[in-house]
Amino acid sequence: MKFPDRLQIPEVILEIARRLESAGFETWCVGGAVRDNLLELPNKDFDLATAARPEQVRELFHHTIPVGMSHGTVAVLDRGRHLHEVTTFRRDVRTDGRHAEVEFGATLEEDLARRDLTINAVAYHPLRHEWRDPFDGGGDLDRKLIRAVGDPAQRFREDYLRILRVLRFAARFGFRIDPPTWEAATAAAEGLRSLSAERVRDEWFRGLETAEVPSELVASWNAVGAIEIWLPEVLEGLQKAGRELRMIDRLVPRDPVLITSFLSGDPVATLSRLRCSNAEIERGRGIRDHPRPESVSDVAVRRWLAEVGPQADDLLAIWTAEGEGEALGEAIARVRGSGAPLTLKDLAVNGDDLVRAGVPKGPAVGEILRALLDDVLEDPSRNQRGDLLRRARGHARRSGSDTGGGPPVSSRSPDADGRGGVLP
Ligand code: ATP
Ligand code: MG
Repeated sequence: MKFPDRLQIPEVILEIARRLESAGFETWCVGGAVRDNLLELPNKDFDLATAARPEQVRELFHHTIPVGMSHGTVAVLDRGRHLHEVTTFRRDVRTDGRHAEVEFGATLEEDLARRDLTINAVAYHPLRHEWRDPFDGGGDLDRKLIRAVGDPAQRFREDYLRILRVLRFAARFGFRIDPPTWEAATAAAEGLRSLSAERVRDEWFRGLETAEVPSELVASWNAVGAIEIWLPEVLEGLQKAGRELRMIDRLVPRDPVLITSFLSGDPVATLSRLRCSNAEIERGRGIRDHPRPESVSDVAVRRWLAEVGPQADDLLAIWTAEGEGEALGEAIARVRGSGAPLTLKDLAVNGDDLVRAGVPKGPAVGEILRALLDDVLEDPSRNQRGDLLRRARGHARRSGSDTGGGPPVSSRSPDADGRGGVLP
């Protein structure tokens, strides 16, 4: 690759580099932002690599945060309180496949040699406009090639996460994987077991978010052996449900929890293994096997929305990807746009109102509220405070005298006057 004469570097990065260089510390732009600039893609902030040790970086700037002192990273805060990462040149002294112990006092070349991929190991000097590319990352950008720095087998043994990073960057840029890198990756796949669930999850989620074609990322995780080790239910789910993997490419939004839950035969097991949050696990639980609304009539859609609650958008996304969500999507938009009450919170009365109106405290309150909501879902115009309180009182009287507080009958069974509500 013929490198450009200059990269456009933000003023704040130049200021940080100038201050470090004036103090006698060599400082270079490295990593993702350099790569993305060369690919002419929008990029995040430039990371700086410097000969200054972390304590020396902290002394040179007023506001810093020691984000990872043991591996050499200090964040410098600018006036707008944005963080810019400055990392000391380092070399590995000990690795165990999961973590690295590093030492400082290394050269730029040594620092580049411990990076994962050739395309991530190109350095640019922001003041002198020089380039360093000892592993021909520039050539690999031209060739659209993902290749490990150095001996791939050894690099994966140092940190097995690099296997997954290879897959992520290949899927993100639509690059080929260099055959020796691929062979070493499949040969080393057993080592993936030793990684922490959090690192694997972050890689999987970032991969799904950034892949050009998500199904290709899943296919490469499968081919390398990572699905079998970390996401076995995804294989089973695909086979059992006869689902076409390509469907995930049509899922909007591109949401990793949604995609994982859709693919998995047991989303709770998969998301738990990946140590997802309880909220994410609960979300995954609801994504499978929900019934569809009986029809796309307003009443049916209101009842369905009330039943599935916050899960509605995930289900709609899946059915839309399956090509069967269009009419439902329109109906949901119509119902939501109408402002019709859909939850107990939307009712014009609450539990306290019912107690004040004479309903005995206890389970009857919740039961009557649900019956009122059922009625209001049938006909939103019934959401009038006075009317609801009258119905509640009548119901409380009745349940007090005959059912002893048993559950109200659903308003779906029409009462004598045929109005469709059980409450007076
Ligand atoms: P992204 O746009 O996804 O942030 P990135 O290249 O900036 O891409 P990071 O994970 O932020 O990726 O890492 C920054 C740089 O640190 C990489 O470009 C690479 O040089 C190096 N790096 C990160 N993780 C590893 C690793 N596990 N092994 C070796 N080098 C790594
Ligand atoms: Mg980055």
